[in-house]
Amino acid sequence: MYFASDNTGITHPKIMQRVVDANTGYAMPYGNDEIMGKVRADLRTLFEPPDAAIYLVATGTAANSLALACYTEPWQTIFCAQYSHIEEDECNAPEFYTGAKLTLIPTPDKMAPEDLAAAIARRPKGVVHMAQSGAVSITQVTEHGSVHTLEEIRALTAVAQAADLPVHLDGARFANAQVALGCTPAEMTWKSGVDVVSFGGTKNGCMGVEAVIFFDPSKAQEFEYRRKRGAHLFSKHRYLSAQMEGYLADDLWLEMARMANDACARLTKGLRNHGAEFLHEPQANMIFARFPRAVHQKLQAAGAKYYVTGGDVATGPAVEMLACRLVCDWAMSDDLVDQFLSHF
Ligand SMILES: *Cc1c(COP(=O)(O)O)cnc(C)c1O
Repeated sequence: MYFASDNTGITHPKIMQRVVDANTGYAMPYGNDEIMGKVRADLRTLFEPPDAAIYLVATGTAANSLALACYTEPWQTIFCAQYSHIEEDECNAPEFYTGAKLTLIPTPDKMAPEDLAAAIARRPKGVVHMAQSGAVSITQVTEHGSVHTLEEIRALTAVAQAADLPVHLDGARFANAQVALGCTPAEMTWKSGVDVVSFGGTKNGCMGVEAVIFFDPSKAQEFEYRRKRGAHLFSKHRYLSAQMEGYLADDLWLEMARMANDACARLTKGLRNHGAEFLHEPQANMIFARFPRAVHQKLQAAGAKYYVTGGDVATGPAVEMLACRLVCDWAMSDDLVDQFLSHF
């Protein structure tokens, strides 16, 4: 019962097969392989702009950091939500690659447009003593499992645009958000004012690949230099390309996201029936909930893997409610969800 994250499961066999299929004969290195040509064409079709600049890297941290670096000067600051992955989980890689600092917008989950506007207003342009306003980074799905509506994305990008600031979208769980919203990739990104997106693959069934998509192709050359200088240009690149090609083929990426979101909905319903409290309303494939210590103890004794954030499971009153995070990936079966719920 692995609910710790959506990177604990297996790579989808169809994607693994694409990697095996790619493992024959010779291919040009460094992104000049034929499969990458198809990936570029597929992603341009999916996102619509025919001239989008498209690159692959192996980690989401690299995707975020390198994408932001193309839109940030070292004397600037990047605006993001308080609990953003770029703030909490990337060991200062965004600061390392951009040379900039982060300005955290206080919020339990999503940034509010007025808070973003206020943070930008506190940094007047041209004052040499202050960090200058740089990119705005939005996370979709958020770190707390909720999904920005298109209106919410547009409200944030409107604030950025009014201050002439570029917008990055951390889409490590892009597919889960898209399935939840039922919109198109274009609507969730450039049609809503996003300039560059980290398009996740790893958390949704790939082995290790993320795409960086620039809707302004003039950023292409700079990204290439930065990726190489940052040691993220893969030599045997065809194995990254093959994963992304398999991910997109026959809408496998959406099928997997639907499976993950469905498993999460089943778990959410069961938890609700058992009286669990929710810290955030689950909208994709992540749950933040509270239930009694005694249940956590039973689950852990049964081998369930997940992060408890609310306190010590081993000692304390049995009825005390402890918070935890539960994440479902595409491979999470109804049986495993039901097995988890049987311990309540
Ligand atoms: C997992 C994740 C990433 C990428 O993490 P890596 O471990 O570097 O691949 C980026 N953003 C969010 C919101 C994530 O959940």
